Amino acid sequence: MNNTTYSSMDYFAITTHELTHYAHHDLDTIYSYCDKILKESWARGVEWYLTRSLGYPSYQANYSKYYTLIVQDLIDYDELNNIRHDKVSGYTITQLEYALKGARTWDDWKNNLKKYYNNATEIYLDDLFNAWAAIK
Ligand SMILES: [Zn+2]
Repeated sequence: MNNTTYSSMDYFAITTHELTHYAHHDLDTIYSYCDKILKESWARGVEWYLTRSLGYPSYQANYSKYYTLIVQDLIDYDELNNIRHDKVSGYTITQLEYALKGARTWDDWKNNLKKYYNNATEIYLDDLFNAWAAIK
């Protein structure tokens, strides 16, 4: 037993995370073959995005191996996180979801973003994806 207590914000975040897995599965029939880092990072990202947008603007998601904050990095410019080589910004959550379609690996997702969208920070995508994939 541990003494973790969850706030309503935590329950919201956890629920959003799980619903995102469900929606991803619906979006793409290759879901079962997707890299774990792809599935968990996407769910972590939507969890971060929706929890902040829908009532808890101070919500901070945690990261660990596979559960990266790349969605956050792709969307915002985050001057505090230059350790993550986050020079990327300006993608929308809708673009990130669209680029997931057909993506089985971490690189597939990145390559779809390059292929589908013009973004001035695109030249830094490789650094960002590599930095997150290297988290132990
Ligand atoms: Zn998950």
